[in-house]
Amino acid sequence: MEQWQRILQKSITTFDDLRQHLDCDNTALREVIANFPMRINPYFLKLLKKPGDPLWKQAVPDENEILDTVCIKDPLAEEDLSPVPNLVHKYPDRVLFLVSNQCAMYCRFCTRKRKVGTDRMVINGATLEAGYEYLRQHADVREVLLSGGDPLLLQDKEIEKILSQLHAIPSIEVIRIGTRIPSVLPMRITENLVTILKRYHPLYINTHFNHPREITKEAVLACNMLADGGIPIGCQTVLLKGINDNPEVLRTLFLSLLKMRVKPYYLFQADLTSGTNHFRTSTKKGIALMRDLYGHISGMAVPTFALDSPGGKGKIPLTPQYIIETGNSLKFNNYLGEVCTYPEAGEGI
Ligand SMILES: *Cc1c(COP(=O)(O)O)cnc(C)c1O
Ligand code: SF4
Repeated sequence: MEQWQRILQKSITTFDDLRQHLDCDNTALREVIANFPMRINPYFLKLLKKPGDPLWKQAVPDENEILDTVCIKDPLAEEDLSPVPNLVHKYPDRVLFLVSNQCAMYCRFCTRKRKVGTDRMVINGATLEAGYEYLRQHADVREVLLSGGDPLLLQDKEIEKILSQLHAIPSIEVIRIGTRIPSVLPMRITENLVTILKRYHPLYINTHFNHPREITKEAVLACNMLADGGIPIGCQTVLLKGINDNPEVLRTLFLSLLKMRVKPYYLFQADLTSGTNHFRTSTKKGIALMRDLYGHISGMAVPTFALDSPGGKGKIPLTPQYIIETGNSLKFNNYLGEVCTYPEAGEGI
């Protein structure tokens, strides 16, 4: 067994483990865990400081998860948009392919909370083969996003098998892996894994960091190994109430990501996922946070603030409104709030 597997094996997964390690004696959490699985591995456990801290809130179950009466199970209609199980075909040229039902930690705000880590998510040789077959038949799909669960929690051999199957389909031009491994179990990024991933370029990784405290020396090492393998790394952060809905926290997070060669890609408005209502912020707040970033820090460090439309209607960018007036010239505010104008083509200057 590899080191990362031994670490994972020592995870906190039951209410009794939780009570023992984290002094949580709210018995309602027993029911929370029965509904939504928990896994706090020893690496992430060490990063938790006290109840309510930004990392704690991401990992430790909360009674609010079973009190949520507002949100819905499958807000992005992924099940309706799956022509074969575990393959979501929403956009014309790219698909989301779920290849693992396990994660190194079960984020309490997970958008696929309805099934990740449970037997409601069935992935096996037959579902994978059905996915490959669908992709062989649909040459308009040029990019496959592997997700789950976390694809990098599979064994090296399984990862290699999936990548080689996809690589052999001529219409697939790019493979993208969505993984939270660099922030929740960075020691899973091994030399052997990087050697495998490198064989399937162009291969992109989109990872997931939500708070600067997740950027440990182990996380930096993992991202360096991937970047040295020639793998471009993006980050998909989720905007979470009481965790990172703060200008200083976001600025530090995005600048720190950039320093370890991870390009902030999306900042997501929270989905309407059942059990996660207590993490939602207003879109107005998110847009105001973006205004504090644009121009003030490197454009390389600024992600797109995105809302994934309910019902599977696709992502849209939510951007601060800089335009004041259109017409013969464009009147707008710059990042400092100063009023500027730009004459349109054909107009006098
Ligand atoms: C988010 C998403 C994608 C990828 O969208 P990008 O904007 O290219 O990152 C693809 N398929 C599904 C179903 C998605 O939810
Ligand atoms: S790592 Fe991703 S898929 Fe897994 S629990 Fe967290 S948000 Fe969900």
